[in-house]
Amino acid sequence: MENKFRVFATCDIGEAISLLRSRGYAVEVYPQPEAPPKSLIIEKVKSGIDGLITTLRDPIDAEVFEAGKNEAGKNTLKVVAQYAVGFDNINRADANRCKIPFTNTAGVLTEATAEFAFFMLGMLARKMWPAEHLTRDNRWGYWHPYLPFLGDEVTGKTIAIIGTGRIGLAMIKKCAGFDMNMLCYDPAYENHEYINAIQENMDLRHARGISREKNWIKYVGFEEALREADFVSVHVPLLRAGESSTPTYHLFNEKTLRMTKPVAYMVNTSRGPVIDEAALARALRENWIAGAALDVYEKEPLPADSPLRDPAIADRCRLMPHFASAARITRLSTDPDKGMAGRCIQGLIDVLEGNYGGDITKMPYVVNKEAFGK
Ligand code: NAD
Repeated sequence: MENKFRVFATCDIGEAISLLRSRGYAVEVYPQPEAPPKSLIIEKVKSGIDGLITTLRDPIDAEVFEAGKNEAGKNTLKVVAQYAVGFDNINRADANRCKIPFTNTAGVLTEATAEFAFFMLGMLARKMWPAEHLTRDNRWGYWHPYLPFLGDEVTGKTIAIIGTGRIGLAMIKKCAGFDMNMLCYDPAYENHEYINAIQENMDLRHARGISREKNWIKYVGFEEALREADFVSVHVPLLRAGESSTPTYHLFNEKTLRMTKPVAYMVNTSRGPVIDEAALARALRENWIAGAALDVYEKEPLPADSPLRDPAIADRCRLMPHFASAARITRLSTDPDKGMAGRCIQGLIDVLEGNYGGDITKMPYVVNKEAFGK
């Protein structure tokens, strides 16, 4: 097949690259596991590539989009295909000004991310990390009713779900299976149909004797959610000031962390800058909160001098390497309905090959459709 399009991928996304090549695409893949320098991305875009495959590690802004124009000011760069659902690394306003569509992989990582959030919550509350260390370090000297420590069960407890988009709703489904009560908060999107269906499901489980207590779920305000919850799980996009009327940058700061119960545990699989890490480290040290399990950080990889590494809080602070979507099928399947890799290249193909009659507003994986309306 003849070469149709030139694509640069800032990292290897597996078998999907071969699939593009078998369609006749000339694909260059950055060979290192680390992100390429921005200057290299700009150089590749300047060289006239049609498509750019990016990850959350690549800052994509006006400098990159402008590099994708020829001398006549026409776009040579036709699409940026982001291998993630979050796209806070892409400047949407710049993309719109330059009229370059970008795509994401929303939907295919929803369940994997939600189940990981739930597993982190369980690992944190039941103290599995310190418990395993006890065994491995040969400090397990006796079986005892409460020594050297106890965990807290999740069953029957109340969790605050902050953000009820795709992943928040999937998390609700997992928590319902563990007979938890739920306080939901989302300033922009309340899915009452879903919440009512979960309530009906809980009522049926209770009526048939499957769950002992009658569990409940409801939407509440942010402050009520934080004040009443035993667990807090965060599922919001990173939105900085000016990007939303309810920005999420440092949504959890000294003031809001002080609202949580001292027995509360917090889980964050959204984006690091949603939490002020210095304030969280202090909240853990001073016991305003019982524990935190984090998958994402203000700076990634987590710096060696991060206050979150303080050994004094290690037993109550779980630190994962931005790993919530890191499951085999979710990451690598070339099926656009199952894997990020498949959905990423399908978004790229839709734009470059002019699917949907070339109408960008009809392409399901394009994020910034607003720039292409009539
Ligand atoms: P989504 O857009 O479906 O849901 C996000 C929800 O957050 C929306 O309903 C929105 O209204 C709500 N929201 C916005 N501002 C809010 C605020 N101030 N307070 C409370 N809620 C607010 O997105 P999604 O698919 O559920 O993904 C959520 C985020 O999770 C992504 O943007 C991404 O950053 C992150 N993520 C992380 C991983 C990981 O590997 N750790 C994997 C997938 C997604």
